[in-house]
Amino acid sequence: MPNTPKRLGELVTEAKKRGASRAKIVPASIIVLDERVRLKCSVPLCDNYGRHLLCPPNVMPMDQFRRTLKSFKHALLLQIESDYDSLDKSTKHLDADLCTNLEKATGTRGFERKLTQLVEEMEALAFKKGFYLAAGLGGSECILCETCVGQGSEEPCRHPFRARPSMQALGIDVIRTCESAGMPIRLSSDHKVRWTGIVLLD
Ligand code: SF4
Repeated sequence: MPNTPKRLGELVTEAKKRGASRAKIVPASIIVLDERVRLKCSVPLCDNYGRHLLCPPNVMPMDQFRRTLKSFKHALLLQIESDYDSLDKSTKHLDADLCTNLEKATGTRGFERKLTQLVEEMEALAFKKGFYLAAGLGGSECILCETCVGQGSEEPCRHPFRARPSMQALGIDVIRTCESAGMPIRLSSDHKVRWTGIVLLD
């Protein structure tokens, strides 16, 4: 497919038009994988672990994803900036109650949904532009349903052509990847929260 730089540039322009606060094409080689990211799903235990269809250990093993990632040349990194900071000013460590309270206070889910939608749209657009192996990863567990049908229920996914795992579920260190890309994010700070997703491009 001719003129790859032009097509990549068009994806960035379109992502910004569709609501990305920041969008950038980066070499896929700067994406950082770290086993410790996966460890954080189970230490301390996340309530999605083993229950959500698209959270560990129900996703592709890291070794397989590492091999797969090597075949991608570029990635479209996407960020949506919220209109609030993390509000986490307590000295309490992060736990389920604190997360729930922060979600209620800030409307976090609205920004997660916006990012989910953007990743989905940009993956589809990349496909149409000839990046036929484009694969989008979200910034949080799949939130298309209020509650995932979960592993062991024998119910199938309710949105099979839309559901996708998060970057971190596959072991991507989002913080270091964003730093390498010049799009740093900070947690538990006075800065506005930035939600990050990615579309891997062949
Ligand atoms: S679409 Fe619903 S059922 Fe499917 S993985 Fe996402 S939350 Fe679970």
